Amino acid sequence: MSRQPLQTPADDELQRYATLRQQDPELFSVIKRERQRRQDSLDMIASANIVSPSVLEAMGSSVTDNVVEGYPGQRYFSGCEEMDRLENLAKRRARQLFGAAHANVQPYSCSQANQAVYLCNLKSGDRILGMDLKHGGHLTHGAKGTMAARHHVSYSYSVDHHSGRIDYDQLLARAKEVRPGLLIAGASAYPRIIDFKRFREIADEVGALLLCDMAHVAGLIAAGLHPSPVPHAHFVTTSTQKTLRGPRGGMILLGEETAEAFAQRIDRALFPGTQGAAHMHTIAAKAVALGEALQPDFVTYQHAVLNNARILAEDLMQYGFQLITGGTENHLMVLDLSRQRITGVEAENRLASVNIMVNKNLIPYDQHSPLVCSGIRIGTAAMTSRGYSQEDMHAIATMIDKMLSDTPTAQTIRSVRQEVAALCLRHRAWYPRVRDSHTATASSANLMEVL
Ligand SMILES: *Cc1c(COP(=O)(O)O)cnc(C)c1O
Repeated sequence: MSRQPLQTPADDELQRYATLRQQDPELFSVIKRERQRRQDSLDMIASANIVSPSVLEAMGSSVTDNVVEGYPGQRYFSGCEEMDRLENLAKRRARQLFGAAHANVQPYSCSQANQAVYLCNLKSGDRILGMDLKHGGHLTHGAKGTMAARHHVSYSYSVDHHSGRIDYDQLLARAKEVRPGLLIAGASAYPRIIDFKRFREIADEVGALLLCDMAHVAGLIAAGLHPSPVPHAHFVTTSTQKTLRGPRGGMILLGEETAEAFAQRIDRALFPGTQGAAHMHTIAAKAVALGEALQPDFVTYQHAVLNNARILAEDLMQYGFQLITGGTENHLMVLDLSRQRITGVEAENRLASVNIMVNKNLIPYDQHSPLVCSGIRIGTAAMTSRGYSQEDMHAIATMIDKMLSDTPTAQTIRSVRQEVAALCLRHRAWYPRVRDSHTATASSANLMEVL
């Protein structure tokens, strides 16, 4: 989209939410303050992103009123023809984008998508093997307190102590020891390329099915900048909101190999197995986001995300920060702050005090609890969508150094806060800046026919 003049959030709210403002001033004022907070801060949470206006419009369209149960052509209510068209459009785009043979676009989130894979393939008491939460894995891969851990016997694998990376020989040994029914690849805080092909070889060697959860790197995979799990995994799940830059939601994809045997089973495991009626407005927004991801400038965007992450990582290492695995190959990095002698929670709070938002994160073999942590995780997907580039990454690395390398003085905090404020003024916090409005419009044209 062309660069519009910077409006104040208040101006923007008046246009976009005029009715809400009038009808529910209490709720409106919360949204307004939150948007102001976002405008005034730098969002470096690795799972964050900023959707396009088209995604927002689809999400907020009248489709929200549609009650739709079941799948296209097999609904439980009448009057679903257009919603069949809508869902089929999203499915087609998902298959095209990821080279999949089957797509289910109904998961409310990636957590639900994972649930469906478990329900489809595992019985109570079966073993699952996923990446340890401390080592970058996700809660839904069998962490204590989750449904997966309750119903299955959950084991985890670690990263190598020295390299911080997955050691595939160690993983094979662990898999042979555990003999899981389902092996899970995928992470929320792992800064390196994941070798899905090798994961499959290991799954085959121990007779396990392979689930690849690509939630964090789906956008990079869509752009061809990270190897795809689709040819290797029995099941692929993802969030649609992270690097993929869509609405909050999930998807399940099957490759050629498993589509025939599993398509119906996985669809039933999701609905009615784990979910109720489809959220059609979110599926509409997924369709828009998938359409955008099929455009060439989405690849440009993902290149910029990677470039920004690499530059930020290099600068931070120059400043003496220790990065898990010694760098990054994707959109995120994990800092081990033991050298700076501060905890993750302290670092998170210090950066938040100057309006730089990151999250405390466990590091491999962390001695602290998840509420304290020894590290932080930093990502560049949202910052890149907002329009920040290379020079800004240099500036941000310097600010992070000032805030974390020593206890900052009141003067330092004041001056960094001012620098952040100046950076924030440069780009609005809610329209992606790297895309061209023409492609957004073109990719939404099909959808407009049904909305
Ligand atoms: C974020 C994430 C999820 C959960 O996604 P939601 O859409 O928030 O449910 C699952 N798996 C991985 C690897 C993730 O990073």
